[in-house]
Amino acid sequence: MSDIIIIGGGAAGMYCGIMLGDKGHRVTLIEQNEKLGKKLFITGKGRCNFTNDCTRDVFFENVVTNPRFLYGSYPNCTPQDIIEQFESWGLKTKVERGQRAFPESDHAYDVIDVLKKQLKKNRVKVLLNTQVRDLVVEEGMIKGIVLEDATHTVMKADAVVMATGGMSYPSTGSRGWGHNILKKYGHTICECRPSLTGLNCSDQDLALMQGLSLKNVTLRIPRGKKTLYEGFGEMMFTHFGITGPLVLSASALTGKYYKDGPITGYIDLKPAVSEEKLDANLLKLFGENENKDIAHVIRSLYPSSMVQIILDRAGIAGNKKIHDVTKAERQAIIKETKAMEIHMTGVRGFPEAIITQGGVSVKEVTPSTMESRLIGGLYIIGELLDLDAMTGGFNLQIAWMTANTCAGAIW
Ligand SMILES: Cc1cc2nc3c(=O)[nH]c(=O)nc-3n(C[C@H](O)[C@H](O)[C@H](O)COP(=O)(O)OP(=O)(O)OC[C@H]3O[C@@H](n4cnc5c(N)ncnc54)[C@H](O)[C@@H]3O)c2cc1C
Repeated sequence: MSDIIIIGGGAAGMYCGIMLGDKGHRVTLIEQNEKLGKKLFITGKGRCNFTNDCTRDVFFENVVTNPRFLYGSYPNCTPQDIIEQFESWGLKTKVERGQRAFPESDHAYDVIDVLKKQLKKNRVKVLLNTQVRDLVVEEGMIKGIVLEDATHTVMKADAVVMATGGMSYPSTGSRGWGHNILKKYGHTICECRPSLTGLNCSDQDLALMQGLSLKNVTLRIPRGKKTLYEGFGEMMFTHFGITGPLVLSASALTGKYYKDGPITGYIDLKPAVSEEKLDANLLKLFGENENKDIAHVIRSLYPSSMVQIILDRAGIAGNKKIHDVTKAERQAIIKETKAMEIHMTGVRGFPEAIITQGGVSVKEVTPSTMESRLIGGLYIIGELLDLDAMTGGFNLQIAWMTANTCAGAIW
């Protein structure tokens, strides 16, 4: 049996610790925070969407970066295996809309609780408030770690697992330490950027609709002849631009393009109504209200904070009487309704991002073991790797899968 050190007590580190402890290894899990699972605690708005009860195809459709790297991990750790595993540990679970799996209690701390119980059961030694400073590497092999304490204590190990997370929500402890240390030892770090986050927009008028949430709309983001993103659902205007489920997904697929300049997107406020039908509706509405102000009349079609924006963009004064509205002006209203143009300038920062895109290049990690190809006995798992997925429980599924593969490979 080996002495194994795991750095990072998040989802991946804890899961890996449980699996290695179960095999009888002497495992030490080191976490710099005062408690385990600080990020897990805030996942799924405190409810922890811990996986997605989907098919293999759907899982891989939702992995944005390097899905192929996970092909080997999948069969031994499917989403269904994860649900079964947590159930066997005593967590009651439920599956909601979009196959999202949650603890039945709706409390993320119940997920953390079962993980902590299993760590204890499998005799994993947990060191809290303990920060790792460096790795000990000799002739291309891992020998241990150095602690960030007064005497720089060295702890020897036969294998070290790095599970130090990405760079998003740095307040939870994932601040990029793992990236820096692995870079120092020769690993390539693929450019890191925030993902699953809001998008900044340069359109000043969007802020006037701050707080307005739109349901059942379409957001389309073309680039040349390609469509970078098209989705239907919910979004919201904010002081910086746009956010909400549609926008988070859009950020994952457009993030890498903003360095080339702003990107234009289009919101269809009424995707279920064709332009022709909308025109017919407007004509009918206008016919019934010929002597009224247009701002008053179209209030029945749009949220109140949007009426003035639509009219301003269409170049129509709010107090214009309906009988004076021209066909071209009606067409302009239709354009604003079916393809409201927005200009996105970039993703929000790491403090607000659910996930980090980028990380340790998977080319330098063996997919069947998670072992570094550069340093023998060093394993890299979880969000620290250049892997990321859409919302829906897929990112935690990646953390469990990579942890499971790593634990399976260490003998
Ligand atoms: C607000 C929010 C909501 C989310 N909701 C969901 C969701 O519902 N479903 C989903 O699938 N995903 C969700 N995610 C993403 C998911 O939480 C992460 O992908 C996942 O937690 C990554 O796990 P990890 O173990 O790789 O890293 P982390 O959970 O970040 O753990 C890394 C740990 O390493 C520790 N560490 C770092 N450096 C050192 C050091 N030098 N010494 C000691 N310890 C160190 C850190 O303190 C930290 O505890 C969410 C993320 C956020 C921010």
